[in-house]
Amino acid sequence: MKRLIALTFFALLLGSTIQAAERPQHLRIALLITAHSAGSPEAFTVSGGRWSIERKLVHPALLVDHPQGRFLFDTGLGREIDHAFAANSWLNRKLLAYEQLDPALDQLERAGYQAGDIDFILPSHLHWDHLGGLPDFPDTPVKVLPSGLQEAREHGQRPAFLPEHLQGPREWQRLQLSDTPYMGFARSLDLFDDQRLVVVELSGHTAGQVGLFVNLDSGRRLFFIGDTSWTLRGVAQNRSRPLFVQWVAHVDSDREANAHVLQQIHQLHQQQPDLLIVPAHDEEVARQLAHFPQFED
Ligand SMILES: [Zn+2]
Repeated sequence: MKRLIALTFFALLLGSTIQAAERPQHLRIALLITAHSAGSPEAFTVSGGRWSIERKLVHPALLVDHPQGRFLFDTGLGREIDHAFAANSWLNRKLLAYEQLDPALDQLERAGYQAGDIDFILPSHLHWDHLGGLPDFPDTPVKVLPSGLQEAREHGQRPAFLPEHLQGPREWQRLQLSDTPYMGFARSLDLFDDQRLVVVELSGHTAGQVGLFVNLDSGRRLFFIGDTSWTLRGVAQNRSRPLFVQWVAHVDSDREANAHVLQQIHQLHQQQPDLLIVPAHDEEVARQLAHFPQFED
């Protein structure tokens, strides 16, 4: 009898795991908030931002579940991030402080997924706060533009990069964009050849930063723009990060190139108000998305 109960329990457990990891019939997405920043005046996040408003930016991973592939667009912060972060200087630990850590893999496992259920990781770029969960997925391939990986490996330093994440055994797959323009961007990659998930290059914040257009069956369209801007306010007003922040932290690899990309996204935002622009860290925009284990399709 005991054995029967144990077997039944095991079967139920297995059943829920299979269900969670089943391939969906159609595209669906869910946001996983892996941490919040400790908070700062909005004026720190965007030029012309308000001093009286406190922003608590988020560190998300986006789970993209497509019948032909399941991937994370960014990982957010992971299980080893406290350890990695402790090696930063006192000033950087203050400037980049985060709280409410809840790594993507913890959230996935609570819902019955395993690391192996993720087919690949597609980081918007290779900064610590977007790739901090990488060690939790040691066997998962990572798709990147070669220029992004090259910059990170040759010039990547703390605190922006965690160099140890970029070494060691890992399958780095080359993203190959074609010369097919998409939404005003010169080069693009239609990930599964169905116009639902389209990658474009947004180099500037880092070399090889990419953005992701998501076209859901519901008709809702979203554009995940990485760190081109930290806030939607920056996109709406075409304003870069404040100069004093740029000066202290050297945030962008190529500030002019980032300003150019921001201008392009600003125009798109004006021309297509139904396209939801999603700056990775904007907590107000994040509230408009389904949060894992809820999905939007
Ligand atoms: Zn970031």
